Amino acid sequence: MIELTQRIAIVGAGLCGSLLAINLAQRGFNINLFEKRTDLRKDTIEGGRSINLALSNRGLKALAMVGLEAEARKLCIPMEGRMIHDTSGQKRFSQYSGRENEYINSISRTGLNALLLDKLEEYSNVNVFFEAAIDTVDVVNSIIKYDYLDQRLEESFDVVFGTDGAGSRVRKSIYTELGDEAEYSSEFLEYGYKELEIPASVDGGFQIENNALHIWPRGHFMIIALPNLDGSFTVTMFNPYEGSVGFNSLKEDPEIMAYFQEYFPDLVDLLPALQDDFDDHPVGRLGTIKCAPWHFNQTCIMGDACHAIVPFYGQGMNASFEDVYVFDQLLTDHMNKSWPELFERFQIERKPDTDAIADLALDNFQEMQDKVDDPEFIKKRKLEMLLEKRFPAYYSKYSLVTFKDELSYEQAMTQGRAQDAYLLGLCSQESFQQPETDKELEAILNDMSKALKI
Ligand SMILES: Cc1cc2nc3c(=O)[nH]c(=O)nc-3n(C[C@H](O)[C@H](O)[C@H](O)COP(=O)(O)OP(=O)(O)OC[C@H]3O[C@@H](n4cnc5c(N)ncnc54)[C@H](O)[C@@H]3O)c2cc1C
Repeated sequence: MIELTQRIAIVGAGLCGSLLAINLAQRGFNINLFEKRTDLRKDTIEGGRSINLALSNRGLKALAMVGLEAEARKLCIPMEGRMIHDTSGQKRFSQYSGRENEYINSISRTGLNALLLDKLEEYSNVNVFFEAAIDTVDVVNSIIKYDYLDQRLEESFDVVFGTDGAGSRVRKSIYTELGDEAEYSSEFLEYGYKELEIPASVDGGFQIENNALHIWPRGHFMIIALPNLDGSFTVTMFNPYEGSVGFNSLKEDPEIMAYFQEYFPDLVDLLPALQDDFDDHPVGRLGTIKCAPWHFNQTCIMGDACHAIVPFYGQGMNASFEDVYVFDQLLTDHMNKSWPELFERFQIERKPDTDAIADLALDNFQEMQDKVDDPEFIKKRKLEMLLEKRFPAYYSKYSLVTFKDELSYEQAMTQGRAQDAYLLGLCSQESFQQPETDKELEAILNDMSKALKI
């Protein structure tokens, strides 16, 4: 049975684990939260890089649940659309939504994580242990085995949550116990990412438009940039490993400068530390992990530990936060059940959705690199924006996923893909003219509803 007196271990005080700890602490459980790194509020990690993420409705909904939405919004810079840069330096702005006040937010990973850790200090029923690296979990007896301050320790709990990210030790412990019964797939792209920085201007302002997510799409590679509160932008290159523009070829000047001058000339002057950033910042891997089950006995995994995805929909953190939201609702409805029953319900309800966002994120990789510059795609986006503006009840695929959080990811994917296929078909007809009147737009919506039965 689930009882408030039970002791809970959460492994990983990243975004998902810290939010889960707040939520369970607010319910009155006794929590020990273990984090292998030092306290990010005291030590700068990741070599001082300012890494930011796009936070949107699903994540905000979960932050609101624990009373942190307003505080989180203070750390956010709204991004109302994509600013698309071509090789000649021309820019085109493409809004994310035709409705007023629908946008995504750039937020510092460290700032958000620090906000969650600060909040945890309000609860006397939570103990946080930094530099406590869990090695394995005895999932039969719910015993965690870990290194803490030069000691090797073992501790028994009633329940263990693994929110320890894509390389989860908790997941490995479950799968070692399950052997062949476990299903696990990890698919890595032939692409990596590297972070660079556009610093603030001398007066501390932004050097490029701040209320936008910038994209420099170049076919099979691209750069994006998201704003930070201090006036800088975190710039992320997504390149293949191999080939003439592959990370394995681009190592030093003059190749790097020649590459930027050819493909990203408008960025050259904005990246004064280009070579240093190249040398100092590693190439990160990009992969999708799908697995089952997500639990064994009294142990359950959440967040990237059970569904790491590629970052092209800006939804990995949002999905991990939404896990905590969905779990909270299940806990409210099923406090009279056992933990394993609750974990099973969580997996049954949530896995189709996290599989869906994993697939959508891979679709968006193609769209961001390639399609945002494609004439048919541009026509479709223009039409979608008009439809959303004049008929706000209509949601494009992007809006269904990003803003309509009452729909599950799976529902958003099914409906959004069907709409996309229909509208792309329409826009690719030779006779297609952008509609101008509400009557014409309404006719399109009616025909689409009939064709798609929505
Ligand atoms: C380049 C990039 C860009 C991204 N952009 C976005 C975006 O714009 N929007 C978005 O929503 N998502 C984005 N994501 C995804 C997002 O970063 C992840 O989905 C999110 O961080 C998952 O949170 P988590 O808490 O599950 O895992 P993590 O953030 O990985 O946290 C896991 C925590 O567990 C700790 N830990 C690991 N192992 C152990 C152990 N053995 N013992 C104790 N502690 C341990 C780690 O130190 C860490 O603190 C992006 C990801 C990448 C790579």
